[in-house]
Amino acid sequence: MSETDCIFCRIVAGEIPAVKVSETERVLAFNDLNPQAPVHVLVIPKHHHGDVSTLAAADPGLLAEMIEVADVVSMERADGQYRLIFNNGPRAGQSVFHVHAHVLAGAELGWTPA
Ligand code: AMP
Repeated sequence: MSETDCIFCRIVAGEIPAVKVSETERVLAFNDLNPQAPVHVLVIPKHHHGDVSTLAAADPGLLAEMIEVADVVSMERADGQYRLIFNNGPRAGQSVFHVHAHVLAGAELGWTPA
């Protein structure tokens, strides 16, 4: 499914530019526009799923593929260590409703829970 009003579906379709850093048949990784760490990459499935809970129920293998891509990105761009964040729902900070993993790496990361 591709949703015409979904910004990340439009990135997958090549209609909106993004700095791609890794890609597989089913997964795309690109730089976050507003980086919060030296490496801040978003990993998304090419197929539209609204959030990580929906994806986990629909296609857990695809969720695992996203984490494999996060591993590759962190090894290519940092030291293989990274923070993986899924904001799941608006009150958790989700603003784009196409599931995405934030991969943060390349620095000592502090911890601010909210
Ligand atoms: P979230 O708040 O978890 O939904 O995260 C959405 C993320 O998408 C934010 O970190 C934004 O900076 C990022 N973002 C929004 N639009 C774009 C875009 N066109 N290209 C890259 N990153 C984007």
